[in-house]
Amino acid sequence: MLAITKWRIEQRLLVLHMQRRFKRKESQRKKTNTIRAQEYFDVAYPPVYGPRWPSIRLALLSKQKYVAVINNFANHELTVENFQDLGAVDIRHKYSIIADRMKASKKQKAQQVSEECEESFSEDQRDTEDSELIRPSLVKLDDDELAARAKVEPISRYPEEYQLRALAKDPTLGAAEFDNTSRVILPSEVGTRGTSIMMDYVPATKLKGLENWIEETDIFVQQGDREIGFITEKQEEPINLPSMLKVYAFAKGDISDFPQPKMDHHLKVLDYYALDGASLLPVLALDIQAGEKVLDLCAAPGGKTLIALQTILPGIVVSNDASESRGNRIRETLRQYIPHGISSFERHSVITKSDGCNIREKEAYDKILVDVPCLTDRLSLKEDDNSIFKTTRTKERLSLPELQSNLLASALQAVRPGGTVVYSTCTLSPLQNDGVVYLALSKLWQETTIECTIVDMSYAVRPLSFLYRFGTNLGLRYGQIVLPSLLNNFGPMYVAKIRRLR
Ligand code: SAM
Repeated sequence: MLAITKWRIEQRLLVLHMQRRFKRKESQRKKTNTIRAQEYFDVAYPPVYGPRWPSIRLALLSKQKYVAVINNFANHELTVENFQDLGAVDIRHKYSIIADRMKASKKQKAQQVSEECEESFSEDQRDTEDSELIRPSLVKLDDDELAARAKVEPISRYPEEYQLRALAKDPTLGAAEFDNTSRVILPSEVGTRGTSIMMDYVPATKLKGLENWIEETDIFVQQGDREIGFITEKQEEPINLPSMLKVYAFAKGDISDFPQPKMDHHLKVLDYYALDGASLLPVLALDIQAGEKVLDLCAAPGGKTLIALQTILPGIVVSNDASESRGNRIRETLRQYIPHGISSFERHSVITKSDGCNIREKEAYDKILVDVPCLTDRLSLKEDDNSIFKTTRTKERLSLPELQSNLLASALQAVRPGGTVVYSTCTLSPLQNDGVVYLALSKLWQETTIECTIVDMSYAVRPLSFLYRFGTNLGLRYGQIVLPSLLNNFGPMYVAKIRRLR
């Protein structure tokens, strides 16, 4: 009797065990890669983006917005007319208004300073001038509050950036609007705005065999920048929009689509290239000058190479990718936009296939773009196929920061002293953004005699604030980030600019 009861209990436990296993398998089967990505972002990003995360998340899951770059190698005048008929906006128009004001204000300020120097010889005047100077206490105020105040109080009392923002908020400038771009987080603000210093990430020890890789959600305290020789310089000029680049976008809040690109039947090329508006930023940050030798290190499918070529500035663009099939996509993109047999052009563009972590040429390029493989947040939330969140790609995903920092370090060795490297990603991951810049520069600091400086572009990008929602007060130390927003649903796009000194 006892034996039968024991047998029954065992049978029952076995059934329960089988049922549980089946349920677990079922739920695992149901978890798609997009859900995996969503769960991951919902854990990793709220501590960094705080109260902004819900709106960023909503934008990421909503329809992405594109800009149209007109193909200079097709009948571009006709394309411009078509876009104007559609009501699309010429980006240059708004950019110029703000950039010109920034330049004028700087000139005015320089003049003011020289006048003040002359006047400082007069003891009598010194007291009255002092009372007009910017009050130091204002510097501690919240950015938005300052911008708001600068509008109503005597504007000259405020630091130039707030004067500009106040001017830009003038309704006569239409949708132009500056964001809060201060990099300073007051100690009292840490934690209260949901911010977390972005560098708070450490090597993972969670997955067997992956001890050397870095997990997004672990924490460490970084070394100070000085210990690894970081120097920062500020880009004092507004970011340049090359004169040949013709970019159109629908206004803020307008989610109209551009029609399909049309074939120019005479030249056999398409009339425009559509891309996420934020993808322009890395190319603009390169600040390509006439005749320069440019390397696009991770170039496929070739979008940013094409933008660089559309500026008509580079002497040569070398478009590299590690993958043969991806390299063919660059060829295909260029074939669609550059008429066949332009011999002068063929001298300006080369496609190569090599591992960007080991660039053989040293000090060979004026400018290098390192647009690395990353978590591709938007794509990962939308597409299941071949997602980086696929369980079979876990190792690849966790090793991304290592690959990214190797690519960046390699680019800094291939750029000439005085040249510039731009590092970009389309992820919000702090680790893959500022974190990788830090990893790459520390590696160079330890292993080479190369010296670099981070170019702070927070001032320079302001003429594009009408277009992009720049992330601010996020504890970003090295780069700029475009946050997805329902009004202009571009990005995410992180861009850091590094100049090699020697
Ligand atoms: N810049 C491209 C554009 O705008 O069209 C997108 C680049 S995509 C984000 C990253 C690319 O890096 C992929 O095409 C991938 O094949 C390439 N890649 C990955 N590892 C690489 C490596 N070690 N060296 C060079 N390219 C690599």
